[in-house]
Amino acid sequence: FFIALEGGDGAGKSTQAEALATWIRNKGHEVVVTREPGATPVGKRLRSILLDVASAGLSNRAEALLYAADRAEHVGSVVRPALERGAVVISDRYIDSSVAYQGAGRDLSPTEIARISRWATDGLVPHLTVLLDVSPETARERFTEAPDRLESEPAEFHRRVRSGFLTLAAGDPARYLVVDAGQEPEAVTTVVRHRLDQMLP
Ligand code: C5P
Repeated sequence: FFIALEGGDGAGKSTQAEALATWIRNKGHEVVVTREPGATPVGKRLRSILLDVASAGLSNRAEALLYAADRAEHVGSVVRPALERGAVVISDRYIDSSVAYQGAGRDLSPTEIARISRWATDGLVPHLTVLLDVSPETARERFTEAPDRLESEPAEFHRRVRSGFLTLAAGDPARYLVVDAGQEPEAVTTVVRHRLDQMLP
């Protein structure tokens, strides 16, 4: 069973990934918590290229392809093997992040970005995508460390990213759960648990 957690920077994805993993493990499942970009050895190198402030000026198309390369490696060496042995996989970011950041954010065609991702993953789609929706202003208040290259983007960029995510969710309500991530983390976890309770094997 494959769950993707999506949303802007500071939405609380990694906190929710851990909380949900603990809950699902307690139900007796093996759980693999993973993330993009950077879950594999090559992915870590791609992540450092992508997030380094020194990569300012990286072309939009090259950026999109580097994210796709990270995803291809991630799916092939982490996600698919885990799913094949029956584990529940929780990925902190997946295809939607590319459609929202490299598509809506960078002004590349969301359809083309989705097509590249589909090829990179050989068509692997999550059973449930949880969109943690939060305003860029609320999210920013949560940052504690120095901003990476993306976090330094103007508010307008983050507003486009947010609306990119919401457009994806609106297009496929059966596969998405949109949660107000401005709430307390415990309240967010409760909403997601409720949905998963009806879906998990
Ligand atoms: O979620 P995480 O903090 O690991 O993401 C690292 C950075 O990469 C974030 O600033 C995020 O905005 C950016 N990112 C991106 N495009 C993606 C995935 C992440 O710009 N497809």
